Formats: sequence, C-alpha cells, structure tokens
Amino acid sequence: MKEEMIKPMPNEKKLKDKVKKPLLDRFIRYCRKKSPWILHLGASGCNGCSIEILAALTPKYDVERFGIVAKGSPRHADILVVEGPVNVKMKKRLLTIYHQMPDPKYVIAFGTCPISKGVFYDCYNVVGPLDKIIPVDVYVPGCPPKPEALIQAMIKILEKM
Ligand code: SF4
Repeated sequence: MKEEMIKPMPNEKKLKDKVKKPLLDRFIRYCRKKSPWILHLGASGCNGCSIEILAALTPKYDVERFGIVAKGSPRHADILVVEGPVNVKMKKRLLTIYHQMPDPKYVIAFGTCPISKGVFYDCYNVVGPLDKIIPVDVYVPGCPPKPEALIQAMIKILEKM
C-alpha cells in the first residue's frame, strides 16, 4: 500500500513534459528574437538594393546592436533577404538556399524587383514575383528602398517570431 503511494501517477511524466515544453519553447523563441541572423541573396538585380542592404549592416545603422548579423551559410540564417528579380538560373539556386535554411524561416522581398519584377518586368529570362516561388513574409517596396526600410522589415519579422 505504501509503495503504491510513492509511485508516480501514470500521467505525471506526461504532465511534467507539458509544463516544461512551453517554458523551453519560450526560451528558444526568446533566443531567436535576440539573434535574427540574415542571409542576403542578390537574385539578379542592378545592385542598387545590395548597397542599401549592406549600408544597413554598417556601423552607421549598426543593426548588430539588435543581434542582426549577416551570415554566409543558409544553415545559419533565420531570415532570407532577397533583392533583384528572380531569373531562370537563379530560381533553382533560390529554392536550394531556401530549403537549406532551418525552420522556422522568414523571407523579406526587398525592393520592387522581387515584389513585381520592377524595371525587369518584360525581361525574357525573369520568372516572376518572388512570392510565386517561395512564401514571402514582408514586402519592402522601393527602387531601391532605404536601409531604414530594412530595419522596419526586421521589426515586422521580430513581431511574427
Ligand atoms: S528594385 Fe531597383 S534598385 Fe533594387 S535591384 Fe531592382 S532595379 Fe535595382
């Protein structure tokens, strides 16, 4: 009888797991929000947007104070920042990079080109808006948008996280 009382209830372990899991989830979400690492992908644009993205990463805007760091590998990145129109050759590479990123991942369409093909609208080799190829979380219009617009987009992503 005494032994029976000491034994854990059958569902006790499950209950403990349930209590622990949200705490762990919250901790992981907290860490992710404090280190939103980005991967910059120039699809095939004019480099106007590239300059603005790189400017946002320089000490003038200093996004590193928010934990935003540009990474070289898709496997280390949470956020994919795509600029330029996606052409036939880049589509395959874009999909490879997107699938290499760990979940949960977020995508920013930076500039008019990935949003609506922009000035490359009639180009024979451009395969369409970015959101027809991969899901897009935040759109940043402009040709090119300013570095502040990228920071604003990052805030929107952080709210989604
Ligand atoms: S949106 Fe404008 S600046 Fe950016 S890649 Fe396209 S043409 Fe160049």
